[in-house]
Order: sequence, then C-alpha cells, then structure tokens
Amino acid sequence: MADCIFCKIAGGEINAGVVKKTPDFVAFRDIKPVAPTHVLIVPVAHLGAVRDAEGEAGHRLLGRLLAFAAEVAADLGLDSGGYRIVANTGRDGGQSVDHLHLHVLGGRPMTWPPG
Ligand code: 5GP
Ligand code: ZN
Repeated sequence: MADCIFCKIAGGEINAGVVKKTPDFVAFRDIKPVAPTHVLIVPVAHLGAVRDAEGEAGHRLLGRLLAFAAEVAADLGLDSGGYRIVANTGRDGGQSVDHLHLHVLGGRPMTWPPG
C-alpha cells in the first residue's frame, strides 16, 4: 500500500534491522524500543489490524503470524525468561501504524496492567 511505512519495510524499500523474513512475514527491530528486545512482526501483505483479517484465509494468516512471532522470540533467546506479545488496535488501543503488527517484548519483567 502506498505511503505505508511497514509495507516499505516489508518490501525491503526501507532498511529496518530485519531479524527474520519469510515470503509472508517479516520481523524487524522497533525504532523506539521499550524493552531490551522489542521486535515488530508484520505480514508482507497490507492489512490494517487484527480485526481486518477476515474469513478463513485471514484467520489462518493470524495463526501463522502468531506462530512466527513465537519462532522469532525463541530465535532471540526469549523462551527461558518469557516475553509479551501485543497487538495495539485502533485509537484506544494505542495503534500508531495502520499495518497489522505484533510487538514482541522481552528481556525484562513486564508490568500489569499496561498503561
Ligand atoms: P503501534 O503504536 O502502532 O502499536 O506500534 C508502532 C510501532 O512502530 C512503534 O513502537 C514505533 O516505534 C514503530 N515504528 C514506527 N515507525 C517505524 C519505522 O520507521 N521503523 C521501525 N523499525 N519502527 C517504527
Ligand atoms: Zn502496509
């Protein structure tokens, strides 16, 4: 999608510290990390948010996206300490980039509730 920063990163147009890539998904370092490990997991195809992944294909994509996030977390050595996966959605969810993404946060204890 034109003018979507995550489409440009996923398409390789912008360099963003990619840690893992498949034909369908990309994981890259967040530009403003809020944890020692902070990686974003995106589908290459543009979708606005979790709620936009509709139908059988959309639901399958969400499952594979989540599994890819867990693979990346393991690759980055987060399994022993644990980690958090977050999908901010819409205004109240704090979503600032309208291309579906999961945050994988680790390397420190997380607090609850989130702000
Ligand atoms: P959201 O607030 O939508 O859940 O998360 C968007 C995230 O994308 C933020 O944590 C922000 O720091 C990150 N981000 C925004 N623009 C860029 C960019 O150009 N490159 C990278 N690597 N991360 C970005
Ligand atoms: Zn996009």
